Amino acid sequence: MFSFVLTATLARRCGATILLRIDDMDQQRVRPEYVQDIFDTLHFLEIPWEEGPRTPEELKREWSQLHREALYQQALEALKAGDKLFACDCSRSGLQHSGGAYDGHCLHRQLLWDGPDVCWRLNTTTPLMLDMRAANGVLPVTLPAEQRYFVVRKKDGHAAYQLASVIDDDYFGIDLVVRGEDLWDSTLAQLYLAQLAGMDRFCDTTFYHHTLLMEAPEKKLSKSDGATAVRYLRKEGKAKADVFAAIAGMLGIREQAPDWETLGALLLDHYPVFRQRVQTQH
Ligand SMILES: [Zn+2]
Repeated sequence: MFSFVLTATLARRCGATILLRIDDMDQQRVRPEYVQDIFDTLHFLEIPWEEGPRTPEELKREWSQLHREALYQQALEALKAGDKLFACDCSRSGLQHSGGAYDGHCLHRQLLWDGPDVCWRLNTTTPLMLDMRAANGVLPVTLPAEQRYFVVRKKDGHAAYQLASVIDDDYFGIDLVVRGEDLWDSTLAQLYLAQLAGMDRFCDTTFYHHTLLMEAPEKKLSKSDGATAVRYLRKEGKAKADVFAAIAGMLGIREQAPDWETLGALLLDHYPVFRQRVQTQH
């Protein structure tokens, strides 16, 4: 919600329209009641969005990632044909030995593309100089070691998160992304993929990474705690002003914020939301 208030505030300031994007590739995790809760919360807080689904049915019918499966597969085939991928059958437990980062074990093994338990990884051997358009200008960045050879097609044959995300943003013509800084490395992976695939429009996207609520000085709170807190307050019969007051309180802001516009303005004024980050060398 914190992120959404920021996005809405920035969008208003830039005269942009907001697309509510709900990633539902993982159908198991995105249950209708979870989706409904997102809509209920946004309605309750009276935070507007111009584009995107308004009901779980609309999400399923018009906006679901399942409708773009052909686009994802097309992109995967193009990358494969361009010799940018390799197949990998390493198990998750095997990867843990190398501290989570993948060492390129299968890079030259020439495994069958559709063999059992095979995922497709991007060959990231070529170091690319990436430009990230950020809140404070263009930052020169590179792919971090943790994202080396990241997965673009999962073992179940579906597109992996990074690939689907890049294709979706390109498809919807997104030019500003506001997200938590926990997704910083993820953004770098997406920029790498977009540059490798020659997706110029995605490369021109501006990314605002905000610090997470849990890093707020006065109180520690996780993202899911935040969502739970809003739901709890709503079910308790509290007004939206109480919810905004609670969020402001977590961030150590003492002014009253009766609506999202006020809270958004306060967030931008008081809190180092967009940390100036320059990537360090590994
Ligand atoms: Zn492997």
